[in-house]
Amino acid sequence: MQTQKKDIRALSKEELREFFVNIGDKAFRGDQVYEWLWKKGIHDFEGMTNLSKETRAQLESHFVINHIQVDSLQKSNDGTIKNAVKLHDGLIVESVLIPTKSRTTACVSSQVGCSLDCKFCATARLKRMRNLNPDEIYDQVVAIDKESRLYHDRPLSNIVFMGMGEPLMNYKNVLASIDKITNEEGLGMSPKRITVSTSGVPKMIKKMADDEVKFKLAVSLHSAIQETRETIMPFAKNFTLPALRESLEYWYAKTKSKITYEYVVWKGINDRKEDIEALVQFCKYVPCKVNLIEYNPIDDGDFQQAEDDAVDNYISRLEANRIPVTVRRSRGKDIDAACGQLANKQ
Ligand code: SAH
Repeated sequence: MQTQKKDIRALSKEELREFFVNIGDKAFRGDQVYEWLWKKGIHDFEGMTNLSKETRAQLESHFVINHIQVDSLQKSNDGTIKNAVKLHDGLIVESVLIPTKSRTTACVSSQVGCSLDCKFCATARLKRMRNLNPDEIYDQVVAIDKESRLYHDRPLSNIVFMGMGEPLMNYKNVLASIDKITNEEGLGMSPKRITVSTSGVPKMIKKMADDEVKFKLAVSLHSAIQETRETIMPFAKNFTLPALRESLEYWYAKTKSKITYEYVVWKGINDRKEDIEALVQFCKYVPCKVNLIEYNPIDDGDFQQAEDDAVDNYISRLEANRIPVTVRRSRGKDIDAACGQLANKQ
């Protein structure tokens, strides 16, 4: 029986070096292969042109390079591109390229489906099938960078972990992918250009602070009233606002990095005066800014975007309290590529 070949990208640089020593070759071949895999993002041994034919054949006999395939690509009339990404086992996730005047942002997925249950999110209706591996997250970034160069004539500038899944429920792999993306031996992107968005898992926020991560943190708050938050994000029963607050205070004390709160205003849910005051109060705990996101309707949803007046009230109360606030207009809505719409519809 043939034993299954190992995925070479599961090996560390040290392990690659050891492999070559064990087959009687030089350790530095490991460095060369590592560079092909993580700096050049290559998906086949044949393309590793500074290795001899024999070495490439040896690699071929021991390993595979599992990789993603962009299965289909949809273009929105605002320039947004959505990729349906096929994983080596046939499962599909989605990632999105969002161009603006000054930047191109990749919105990447961290899990197939999601284990959380936010009532307003299309991805929450898909069962969580599995976590993505570091290489599968890395590959999404490389694919979007290529598309950015091809269709927008410039490299990718920013990455947000706001696609499918909850990044902090796949923390180890998310961190490993960011290492490959930011490391000089990888893509060499600045961690300051990466934002990890979480629905708010206090224990993991503290862990990130302890790990002294250098990327930015966004928290999907949506309500600063426990009872309301529990209704729209039921998992918040276990991850309560006081625990979230404590973890964010811990995060800021350690990292000195401002937090972004993502917030959608819905009609009849969080558009009252007391909702606004609760948010203003919550924003006083830790230096932050608020990103008011436009609601992207999902099929049969019970949610509706609030009236402009309600959003304006939020803006003026936040501004009166010197809390920076931005309003994020949706991109890629016509192709179901906007926040919370990723549900493998195609
Ligand atoms: N699980 C992570 C990242 C994925 S969701 C998180 O919760 O942060 C990315 C962002 O889209 C979150 O802020 C989420 O609350 C928001 N979102 C989800 N569904 C949405 C919808 N239908 N309209 C607008 N934003 C939505």
